[in-house]
Amino acid sequence: MFDATLAGSLPKPFWLAETNKLWPQWKVEGRDLELAKRDATLLWLKAQEDAGLDIVSDGEQSRQHFVHGFLEFVDGIDRENKVEMGIRNNRYAAMVPQVRDKLSMKGRAHATEAKLARAHTTRKLKFTLPGPMTIVDTVADRYYGNREKMAMAFAELLNQEARALEADGVDVIQFDEPAFNAFTEEASTWGIECLHRATEGLTCTTCVHICYGYGIKQNIDWKKTLGGEWRQYESFFPALARSKISQVSLECTHSRVPPDLMRLLEGKDVLVGVIDVASDTVETPEEVADTIGLALKFVPKERLQPCTNCGLAPMDREIALKKLQALGAGTRLARQRYA
Ligand code: ZN
Repeated sequence: MFDATLAGSLPKPFWLAETNKLWPQWKVEGRDLELAKRDATLLWLKAQEDAGLDIVSDGEQSRQHFVHGFLEFVDGIDRENKVEMGIRNNRYAAMVPQVRDKLSMKGRAHATEAKLARAHTTRKLKFTLPGPMTIVDTVADRYYGNREKMAMAFAELLNQEARALEADGVDVIQFDEPAFNAFTEEASTWGIECLHRATEGLTCTTCVHICYGYGIKQNIDWKKTLGGEWRQYESFFPALARSKISQVSLECTHSRVPPDLMRLLEGKDVLVGVIDVASDTVETPEEVADTIGLALKFVPKERLQPCTNCGLAPMDREIALKKLQALGAGTRLARQRYA
């Protein structure tokens, strides 16, 4: 009961990359970089196991950014000449690469870290990939002329990588779709269709993570404009409940998401955010167990997985570690309380 897991990313150690940044520069290069990525992956696997998490991840230690880390392996993109674009429905501006040609994979994107993680943990292994809708909201289109068409092209590439990750021994493949909360109507239609394309043929567990973003200033400011209740999930959860995706990861603690919206996900595993990634205050095990208790009003206990609200990448490393420990301890407490 209550398999504890995390949304995916974890902070990079100071010897691997710049700290406290969402899109940091690497600190070393060449073979040193490959070794540093490997060391950081093993370090976080151990930390997740020690914290008592049941489903662990590589912490995204081998990629600079959750979207651009995948795009590096895609041909047809001009990554040298970035342009400014409003992203997440114009919530903020970012410098983004440009799609200039038909998209194709250069080869495997994440084979090294997936195989490394698989070889070093016996726990269930989750691997994260950016969702098609979120990718098209993070690149400029100079070729396809249609967001949906470009998203489907990315979905095909994601499917190639996802099938290979499954063959590497990954148990859960999660697609990160924060853009669903920015384009709630399109999420129900082509957003989910693209996820179906990306997960086609997979037999492992599939998951979609939909959040209100990392704890960066642009997102914190945006949340202030969303009013007393954040009801974005309400538009597309019914469609997700009917979809073939098996799990949904959502924000809960310290958010203004009405918790009863979780009811709309009947039949799905629900990954409930019990750790706030936008605050450095470490949750107590009691708080974590209380949030699990709140979610239990709307999600059957065999379908509830305690999780983080989002990734922890831009956080201080020590705080992130303490938050993982709180997640593990709070889950154990909840098992005693609600068994
Ligand atoms: Zn997130």
